[in-house]
Amino acid sequence: MIRKRVHIGDGGTIAILAEPTPIALDQEAVIEFRASGICGTDISARDGQHPYVPLPYYPGHEAVGAVIEAPEGTDLRPGDLVTVIPTLWCGRCKNCLRGLTNICENMQFFGTGYREGGMAERYLVDTKYLFRVPDGLSVRQAALIEPLATPLHAVDQAPDVAGRAVVVIGSGTIGRLVLAVLRHRGVGKVAVVDLDPKKLEIAAAMGAETIQAGTGDLNTQGRAALGESADIVFDCVSTQQTLSDAIRLADRGGTVMTVGVPHGPVNVDLPLLQDHQIEIRGTITYLPRDYSRAAELISSGVIAADDYITSCFALDDAEAAFDAARSGKERKVLLVAESEL
Ligand SMILES: [Zn+2]
Ligand SMILES: [Zn+2]
Repeated sequence: MIRKRVHIGDGGTIAILAEPTPIALDQEAVIEFRASGICGTDISARDGQHPYVPLPYYPGHEAVGAVIEAPEGTDLRPGDLVTVIPTLWCGRCKNCLRGLTNICENMQFFGTGYREGGMAERYLVDTKYLFRVPDGLSVRQAALIEPLATPLHAVDQAPDVAGRAVVVIGSGTIGRLVLAVLRHRGVGKVAVVDLDPKKLEIAAAMGAETIQAGTGDLNTQGRAALGESADIVFDCVSTQQTLSDAIRLADRGGTVMTVGVPHGPVNVDLPLLQDHQIEIRGTITYLPRDYSRAAELISSGVIAADDYITSCFALDDAEAAFDAARSGKERKVLLVAESEL
């Protein structure tokens, strides 16, 4: 059966290929496309800027679909709504055996470099990487499970945020979801930094102090907003500038969480880090349990998915969708099936 699927070629050219759907392997289910989000990873990969996603690739790692065929012995049934856990862990390495599947030593990543991606009319995924969407969640809500799992994991990797002074640098989808999770976990004072006043208005409505980047010395502004240094800084941008700012805000004794994907190496003021006992921690993706927690937060209304998804395009309009996502004017852009438009 012929399927359409999105391909991002050298130079970031977006094409819709028509090609035979491959035959499913033993443990693979066949999934029919319902929605797939475009994220910062896709934007930087298309621009040739992502450190771990070379071109060309088949995009779609925030994928929601309906089961068409499932192998015997699974509890998936045709028609079940599922979302893909794109971290295709091996299950055998040291980290997998410890349950740390997000840092599998043999990781492949569905929708970023893997042979299959979720921006296709039909695609194949081993059933162990499928999460059944709880009843009552819409396709659009389900499309936010993967993006929300990342902030849930990032906040878990940080010291306990309850009652602490926290700064979030960057208020795109991930930064905003980090803020929502922080509020849910009882954070003390929290300040959000961004260039865009509109994004800051939203953060302010969510109870954060706000600082417009580039309007003064961030370290001074951050301390004024919090009344103290930051115990924890979530850097959702991860440039030289933001990391340097984050370290100064966390001075002394604070923790900097590197959440955003850096485009390349950056310098660290190592003497300051050592002498003022500052910690920098990386955090990547999520564990399968974060999917259940994300689904619960969306089901219970703690995270209003519809506030995050600002526009939807058909699969055929992938190029326009990627352009819209890159424009900076949208929050979350989805490709969706005709039935969801
Ligand atoms: Zn993503
Ligand atoms: Zn592994």
